[in-house]
This record gives sequence, C-alpha cells and structure tokens, in this order.
Amino acid sequence: MGCGDCGYTFALSKKKVGPYQGYRCISPFLNGKYDLRASSCNQRRRIPGWKIQEWLDARLRQLVENEDWSWLSTNAENIADVSGQQKRLHAEIEKLEQSVRTLICKQTTAPENLEALYARELANIAEELGMKRSRLDALEQQQVHAEQVTPTQAVALQALIELTIDELWKQEESKINHLLRMIMGDKRLVVLEGR
Ligand SMILES: [Zn+2]
Repeated sequence: MGCGDCGYTFALSKKKVGPYQGYRCISPFLNGKYDLRASSCNQRRRIPGWKIQEWLDARLRQLVENEDWSWLSTNAENIADVSGQQKRLHAEIEKLEQSVRTLICKQTTAPENLEALYARELANIAEELGMKRSRLDALEQQQVHAEQVTPTQAVALQALIELTIDELWKQEESKINHLLRMIMGDKRLVVLEGR
C-alpha cells in the first residue's frame, strides 16, 4: 500500500484511529525518528484498517460475482472511454486518407508552380496520419493488456470462488495476504486524503 502524495509505503501505525488500528504514510520516519520537516509528504491522515478491508471486500465480490477485473487495471476509468477514442481516431484517419487521395489527384493536373505547395501539404498530412495511427496502436495495446488475466490470477479467483469472500476474512492473515498477492500481482493500493 502506498501514499498517493509522496509514493512511500503506508504502514500500520501504533496510534489508533478511534478504536481501530490505522495505517499512515511512513515518509516522516525515514531518518529513524519522526521528522515532519524531512518529509515532503503532506498526508497526515491515517486510514483505519477496516476501511481498507471494506474497500477490498467490495472489489473482491465484484470479481467473484462478475469476473470484473477492471478495478485492477491501471486506467480503470480510461478503459471505458477507449472504444469511443478508437472510433474517433478511425474516422479521423479515414478523413485524412481521403484528403491525401484528393490532393494526389489534384497534384497531377496542377500547374508546376504549385507543386511544392502540394508536396508540403501532403507531408503534413502524412505526419498527422502517422501520429494518429500510432495513437490507435497504443490504445489497442492498452486494451489487450487490460483484458489479460494471468494464470496466477485465474487460480486465485477459482480459490476465492470456492472459499467465498465471507470465509476469506476468517482465514489466517498469511493466507489472506497470499491470495491477495496472487490476485493483485504488483499492484499497490494508493491512499490519498484518508481514502
Ligand atoms: Zn506520503
């Protein structure tokens, strides 16, 4: 679990949040003692452990019930948007290709003194086309990546389905952590403003 402000680890704090154990950003402790000035982090709030568990519980239920992995993708909110962007790019690319064809047609009959102008215009369009095509490629890559579930994740999901989420939280901490690590891979939770 990491800090959304400075990127350092959130660790269990000795002080409680109300009656609960809380987690906090450890960046002010980096020199061995608590030193706020040595830290560039502005996050002072602790987050109670139950809040983290509640958040995970909801996401895991989403996973078990609908095989919804979207909360684990880096740009969860962007992905819904990707197909719209792809459509737009396809349309723009088609339009540019049409202008290239039109320009080439005109170029063959154009007077000699306009040749340079046409060449420049074509070069501009070619450059724009190149950018839009590589943007489209990048979007497709991103989508493929987002839909990939690793074998480890698949095994962990099966185990979770058999165990059920209610039972998961009753297991030993090491077993919970092991399953969560299988599901989440190298993904970290990020805490900002106590959320
Ligand atoms: Zn921090």
